[in-house]
Amino acid sequence: PQPPAGQQVVVIGLGRFGDSLCRELMRRGWDVLGVDHDPVRVQKLSDVITHAVAADCTDPVVLQQLGVHEFTSTVVAIGSDVEASIMTTSNLLEAEVPNVWAKAVSRQHGRILERLGAHHVVLPEHDMGERVAHLVTGRMMDFIQFDDDYALVKTAAPGVVTGMPLGESRVRSKYGVTVVGIKRPGEDFTHATAETVVEHGDIIVVTGRTAAVERFTELDR
Ligand code: ADP
Repeated sequence: PQPPAGQQVVVIGLGRFGDSLCRELMRRGWDVLGVDHDPVRVQKLSDVITHAVAADCTDPVVLQQLGVHEFTSTVVAIGSDVEASIMTTSNLLEAEVPNVWAKAVSRQHGRILERLGAHHVVLPEHDMGERVAHLVTGRMMDFIQFDDDYALVKTAAPGVVTGMPLGESRVRSKYGVTVVGIKRPGEDFTHATAETVVEHGDIIVVTGRTAAVERFTELDR
């Protein structure tokens, strides 16, 4: 789908995270200005993104020259150099740049970015570690948790929901979860309704409080 005209993002720091972010934004049809103080990183993306510039973003004058004000959002994707991440984020906020996203490498780093007033803080490694823990220890095939302790999980259907319409299995009142999608072997995912009959071997997508979803996925198949 075409984004509204003028959807442009600045990505500061073209490491692994910034690189993937730039590529996905381009794939989605957005304009991307990528900035890194390492010319090699800039060169690597110069044919891929709208503009790639070598510059040190801890310098407020550089940020001003790049015209970051004109963009819809700015992502500070500097990670390991925490000082550079903090200085850059702080300069962007001081200049009242809208929609500043910042990547943190630790909870502490994230807290500092939040205190500075970053509009959005993401902790990719921390979040992915938590997610993989769920996949490794449990029977979840995928796990996404939202801020308020609410999760969305892909799992093989437990026995308690099979062989009857979902409406009759009363999963919501008994287990506190809602089955929202179902995939039969060899088919695509479709929406689940109260009439859907889940069979043994089906894969389902379930939402609910994280603890409830975790308990539900531990039930016998
Ligand atoms: P990742 O884990 O995504 O690879 P890194 O922290 O290794 O993250 O990479 C961040 C990128 O940010 C690096 O390419 C680095 O050169 C760049 N960077 C660090 N400091 C600055 C700065 N002051 N201005 C611009 N880019 C910077």
